[in-house]
Amino acid sequence: MNRVYNFSAGPAMLPEEVLKQAADEMLDFGGSGMSINEMSHRSKAFDGVIETAEKDLRELLQIPDNYKVLFLQGGASQQFAAVPMNMMKNKKAAYIVTGQWAKKAFQEAQIYGETVKVADSSDQTFSYIPDCSNLDIPEDADYVYICENNTIYGTKFHTLPDTKGHDLVADVSSCFLSEPVDISKYAVMYGGVQKNIGPAGLVISIIREDLIRDEVLPGTPTMLKWKTQADNGSLYNTPNCWSIYICGLVFQWLKKNGGLSEMKKRNEEKAKILYDYLDSSKLFKGTVRKEDRSLMNVPFVTGDDALNDLFVKEATAQGLVSLKGHRTVGGMRASIYNAMPKEGVEKLVTFMEAFEKQHG
Ligand SMILES: *Cc1c(COP(=O)(O)O)cnc(C)c1O
Repeated sequence: MNRVYNFSAGPAMLPEEVLKQAADEMLDFGGSGMSINEMSHRSKAFDGVIETAEKDLRELLQIPDNYKVLFLQGGASQQFAAVPMNMMKNKKAAYIVTGQWAKKAFQEAQIYGETVKVADSSDQTFSYIPDCSNLDIPEDADYVYICENNTIYGTKFHTLPDTKGHDLVADVSSCFLSEPVDISKYAVMYGGVQKNIGPAGLVISIIREDLIRDEVLPGTPTMLKWKTQADNGSLYNTPNCWSIYICGLVFQWLKKNGGLSEMKKRNEEKAKILYDYLDSSKLFKGTVRKEDRSLMNVPFVTGDDALNDLFVKEATAQGLVSLKGHRTVGGMRASIYNAMPKEGVEKLVTFMEAFEKQHG
């Protein structure tokens, strides 16, 4: 077996311990004589899996009792529609557009109501987070929307926008469980799990109870109505059992490893190793304004496409894989989520130093 350091933005690296446990339990989950993949989602065994997963997630994020946790399908992209369908009373919402995922959510919401772009960082290839301390938010906007960590561009809201009393909705796909957060500042927080938690195809939505209601936009499909899912404990139809199970194992791994404050510490430590090197390098450059840097996704360039390609190729040969940047930014991107060990980042930087010596 030859495991690599996988810097993919998503689906991304998972903790080895979790993969091993899943492998151990693949043929016989908990003495049932069958795999979790072969089991009824209405069985006692699966009930235990989803209930424990929710309980552990609530503990990790300290989710207040007046929030529901939903395990939904359709990925984060499905919530781009579910958010306006469930939340638009006045058919108006404010969007902060800081990258492609925010833009997609903004465009999707236009199908359902009036969407107002209240801030935007497209003028500099989304390389910064705009000042959101005094936004011109329409009085009757139903919510203010952000993508909290911009996976493609490597920026992060280190301060949440002043929503002026409006409900805040955040797509946290690529920073989910990377550090402690105060859930009460959000009306809705959701994320596709395949970035920092588990296998693709599951989105976890954490929703303040008063937003789970019967009054949704006309035409909202039963499946997309949060109330349907909340009333049925995320088991209205067959859920993504496998992903829920793996996420549950990851929650246990997080708890065993000191929870989210420890993750924050480790993530800061890892990111610092890489950013410090980028700041000192003459060959490589980070593409993001310093104060807006993400701890999770780190894009960087050499300024020379051929050299970028060579770097990715040689890194791959060293077992440092999936470093090619998103096509809209070019260059490289290292995604260093919870499951990436410090040794992986150290090995990457050592390789970058050697590459710079040779090509700088
Ligand atoms: C990957 C990603 C998405 C899309 O997730 P899907 O589950 O594929 O729909 C949305 N938002 C952010 C921030 C992402 O990183």
